[in-house]
Amino acid sequence: MKYPFLDLATVNAPYLEQIKAAVNRVIDSGRYVGGAEVETLERNLCELTGAPHCVAVSNGLDALRMILRGYLELGRLRKGDKVMVPSNTYIASVLAITDCGLEPLFVEPSIETLNIDPQKAIAAYDERVKAIMPVHLYGRVAWDDEFVGFVKEKDLIVIEDNAQAIGAESDCDGIYGSRQAGALGDAGAFSFYPTKNIGAFGDAGAVVTHDNELASVVRALANYGSDRRYHNIYEGWNCRLDPVQAAVLNVKIPHVKEENALRREIARVYDTQINNPDVKKPMFVDNDTMVWHQYVIMSAKRDELRAYLSANGVATDIHYPEPPHRQPCYSRYAALSLPLADKISREALSLPISRCTSLQDAASIAEIINLFR
Ligand SMILES: *Cc1c(COP(=O)(O)O)cnc(C)c1O
Repeated sequence: MKYPFLDLATVNAPYLEQIKAAVNRVIDSGRYVGGAEVETLERNLCELTGAPHCVAVSNGLDALRMILRGYLELGRLRKGDKVMVPSNTYIASVLAITDCGLEPLFVEPSIETLNIDPQKAIAAYDERVKAIMPVHLYGRVAWDDEFVGFVKEKDLIVIEDNAQAIGAESDCDGIYGSRQAGALGDAGAFSFYPTKNIGAFGDAGAVVTHDNELASVVRALANYGSDRRYHNIYEGWNCRLDPVQAAVLNVKIPHVKEENALRREIARVYDTQINNPDVKKPMFVDNDTMVWHQYVIMSAKRDELRAYLSANGVATDIHYPEPPHRQPCYSRYAALSLPLADKISREALSLPISRCTSLQDAASIAEIINLFR
């Protein structure tokens, strides 16, 4: 492919010397679980988000699971409670909910933002709903005055799936004042899967929270449920982050603003130059409420467009080809009517947006798209 979708070696190239040095320091330290790099990562994420607590963990799904399990252990959620979640999210959001014995209540998105539509959340609410999981999908912050009004009125626990929006900033206050994605609600889950805006060299994640009690429970849950050595207060897991991944992330996290800005410039080229009537572009905003984890266009002719782009050297991807309620493991939800999630899965197409795509490449890709009939 002349225009690759993503190549992680290229993405990491600017940081490679520093990363190798940092990983060598971990190797030389003789400490391979926990330790200084992990603590530094937790501090870096508190500083970035303005939240007082962070627990570095194994991956984004585990971060979500531990937040929900933590609220169960604290008695703030009970098995069978409903958790609102967008119908068009990545499966991991829903897996965390059902794994904890909670019930997902799928809420359809706004077709403009592709995030939970607060009006639809209000309409879908019932007394069994105790929490809501906004997902900042494709990097766009799912947070506005209407959403905040709703969660405050219903006193819902707000758990952000912030796997795709590190460094994003809302233009209205979070529940605790911070405007940073991941620290808008009660607790936020981060993923550092290698393809995310800030990616590790393997799986990695974090829980960020304003809740002192939750932070302690999550820290224990990630470490066999122990509050001190050989003393187990929960039936926990081993979901710790290793210091090699933390060392990689500590090199990259200080550059999150630059990384996100680079993505925005590519998005700007697509936004100004794509003008094919069969293609709907994502809403462009010239601020940090969107950090462009993906640039997702929609087209009723998606599959033909994708084949055409491929034939012209442009690699694309689909996020996501099947919504959660269409997955075989969730056949119990297959009868739900979620037409927008279905439509998005049929029409969404992700264009290359990373360090692998120059602004000139983006302009050429736009030109190729404009010639599609
Ligand atoms: C990547 C992702 C996750 C899961 O994170 P992992 O680190 O891969 O477990 C969860 N939710 C969303 C929206 C994601 O994009």
